[in-house]
Amino acid sequence: MRAWVRTLRATSAPLTVLAAVLALAVLSAQAPTTAPATASQEVTGPPKGKGPYRASELVEIVALDPSIKLDIRYATANNFVGRPVYPEARAFLQRPAAEALLAAHRWLKDRGYGILVYDAYRPWTITKLFWDITPADKKIFVANPATGSKHNRGCAADVGLFDLKTGREVEMPGAYDEMTDRSFVTYTGGTPAQREHRDLLRRAMERDGYFFVYPEEWWHYDYKDSREYAVQDVPFSAIAGGKRR
Ligand SMILES: [Zn+2]
Repeated sequence: MRAWVRTLRATSAPLTVLAAVLALAVLSAQAPTTAPATASQEVTGPPKGKGPYRASELVEIVALDPSIKLDIRYATANNFVGRPVYPEARAFLQRPAAEALLAAHRWLKDRGYGILVYDAYRPWTITKLFWDITPADKKIFVANPATGSKHNRGCAADVGLFDLKTGREVEMPGAYDEMTDRSFVTYTGGTPAQREHRDLLRRAMERDGYFFVYPEEWWHYDYKDSREYAVQDVPFSAIAGGKRR
């Protein structure tokens, strides 16, 4: 029913259409086994996918190595939604992806940097929310809920760098989640230092062949075996082994 309401709000339907829609809605409410025609076009749940999939083994990244830093933007109002969408500032990945991320973190240590995690596993419901609120011309920056995001599979990490000496976030050519061409890994603007940091992050993440950057977002890295894991919609609080220490 929410889909109907949203459609009605989004369009200024003439009253006759409105009446017809309401009549249909009433009819469908009386016959709950028959969904309205338009509702079937609305994505209402995570995609099942083809499978078979590997068993999920989401692990809390800081539990494996507390020296990695978190800045979980979706647990704050400092994100493109403008309000917190995660109840907790936590980051999980499938175990092999988490271990690969920590290998990159360790490699960076000798160079004076560490990995800063903005986001990792993301419940499917949040991907759906991002899609719904993003205008059509910006949709290359968000995953389609019909297929789901690799974040939903626990196989994508949004990361930046922090300076080991100061603990502060390192500047990149564009901001995290910025929906402009400054986010592209081929962007040639910004300062030489900003571009060097972006390229150093990429070198750290891709050197072992476990992660690959999303070319439109300098911060987004996909784990190589993401297709082997199913899309999930499990909240952080329900992740097995994800109990707060
Ligand atoms: Zn991402």
